[in-house]
Amino acid sequence: MLRKYIRDPLHIIDHSGITVNEDLGYEEKPMRIIDMQSLFCHWWRVCKNGLATKENLFKRNCAESGYCPICNKQLESVEHLLFECDWVRPVWFRCEFGYKVSWSETQSILKWSCQMMENFTDSKECNLSFSSIAWIGWFVWKERNEFVFSQKPVDPLSTLHRAGLAKKEFDARSISQGTDHSHRLRSPQQREDYWKRPAAGNFKINCDVAIHNGSDCASIAAILWDSNGRLLDGVVKKIVCSSSLQGEALACRLACQLALARNLAGVEIEGDNKSVIHLSVSELDPPWDCGAIFFDIKHLAQHLNLTLSWRPRAANKAAHWVAQASLRNALPLDWLSFPPLALMALLRLA
Ligand SMILES: [Zn+2]
Repeated sequence: MLRKYIRDPLHIIDHSGITVNEDLGYEEKPMRIIDMQSLFCHWWRVCKNGLATKENLFKRNCAESGYCPICNKQLESVEHLLFECDWVRPVWFRCEFGYKVSWSETQSILKWSCQMMENFTDSKECNLSFSSIAWIGWFVWKERNEFVFSQKPVDPLSTLHRAGLAKKEFDARSISQGTDHSHRLRSPQQREDYWKRPAAGNFKINCDVAIHNGSDCASIAAILWDSNGRLLDGVVKKIVCSSSLQGEALACRLACQLALARNLAGVEIEGDNKSVIHLSVSELDPPWDCGAIFFDIKHLAQHLNLTLSWRPRAANKAAHWVAQASLRNALPLDWLSFPPLALMALLRLA
């Protein structure tokens, strides 16, 4: 009941005069990102299917159709809008991760984001990569809205450029204000610890092992890169090993075998186990259970003129990631054709 209302029978609300436009909807115009929280908040809304996509508006009777206004081929879900639409694919492919979108029907952005986060072992790298993804997501959304509300044609290159520029400016501002920590990853001292591309025209193979805690089950991986940092080939194998040295040695042999299979001479092979590299390039006697493995490594290294060198673990993360993903049975079958974003992210600073 309304307080202090003095009843008057002449007071009648006339409903008949209210006309509602049948096309009534609402416009959502993102303006700008002011801090990292807003950026991650936007990504959170993406994960929770909270964007005003045509599909969502149609379900609420706020749009005439749920189809994508850009391609008109599919329902405009958040997944379609941000990853699958024909114009968006080149944005992801041309970004620093070189991500080829391979979206299964059952996959949601939330699930994809969670899997991505699980794949990172370093929280700083995880934040850094996620901020790049979130910037691209934000600008794809903005570009799509400009198409819908201002009929401005979509342009993948300009979207990518704007996202890169905004991220750069934002990072520079954060660094000058002392609120950013990601730049530490790019300091010259620390870059020494990162994977480096082979010299122009050369190839590099990184190898590593991941061993299951408390058991002799392990996975070994060897991955081949060219001088442009492109992933060319890779092998993973589940093995049983009696010691970590044996596992590391088997990974090194796998790298040599990959060079042989590809008929590549003069390849740089990198591993993060000093003992294995030392035993492979010296005349020292290896432990008896590794003798045959080192014999093979030396033979292949000599035959193919391979260079074996030790690198810190931080510079060998990609091979470790592949071995670990294989051990957890979490390595997608198409990891070579569609490298997971987490794997590509490990090399983005190279
Ligand atoms: Zn579309």
